[in-house]
This record gives sequence, structure tokens and C-alpha cells, in this order.
Amino acid sequence: MGIEGLRARQRLSVIRSAADQIIYDHCEKSEMKIENQQRIRDAYPDLFDASISRLHDGWTDIIMAFIRDFHDLGEGMMSPGEVRFERESTGIKAFVWPNPEMQWTATKTHAVVDMQRQLHFSSQSTCEWCGAPA
Ligand SMILES: [Zn+2]
Repeated sequence: MGIEGLRARQRLSVIRSAADQIIYDHCEKSEMKIENQQRIRDAYPDLFDASISRLHDGWTDIIMAFIRDFHDLGEGMMSPGEVRFERESTGIKAFVWPNPEMQWTATKTHAVVDMQRQLHFSSQSTCEWCGAPA
């Protein structure tokens, strides 16, 4: 590669890292859009938690799927419990408080653990900003 090629490459990498920084700055400030929070809140008002609003838009669908599956574990009108979500460097962790009034069979208990694992993996393979496979 000639000197021109090298310079072009350096320029490109400077431009790229500036672009990364802009995306990073933007993302650090943005929280989940109100309409996405509203979508989850409308579908599952009893399971919506303020921690959801601190996650980003690309994860709306995987959070929705988790809450739907968790909700389905409830018995009749009885809520299965509460969930808080935390974004960690490895992905989303769902912290679950299981409703002590409920009958927690081994099957249901394992289902929760599977859902926690699935959410964590899904968040690793889903862009948290746009929801595209990552
Ligand atoms: Zn993306």
C-alpha cells in the first residue's frame, strides 16, 4: 500500500471513531421513547416497572416478550410477581420477585429461569438502539 492509501485509511479511521463517539454520546443520553414505554404499559399495566424506561428502544420487543411470558405464568387474575430490569455490560438482567401467593411448581420456576436466560441472550444479539439482529 502506498503512502496515499495509508493516509486514506487513517482519515477513514478518524472519521469512524468520531462517528462512534457521536452515536455513543447520543445513546448514553437517550432513554426509551414514551410511545414504546406506553405500548408495554398498556399491554401489561401491572408488570410495567420504571426500570424499563431506562432501557433503549431496540430492546422494546424482547422486553415485551419477556413480560408476556411472565404474565402468562400468573394464575387467573393473580399476578406472577414483579420484575426489575438492569442493563449490564453483558446484556439485560431481569430480577424477579415471585408472588408468594402463587403455587410455584418446578415447571413454572424453571420457566422463569429460562426466560431470564433467554432475555439475556436476546439482548446480546439485538441492537439496543434499533432492534436489528446484532
Ligand atoms: Zn442498531
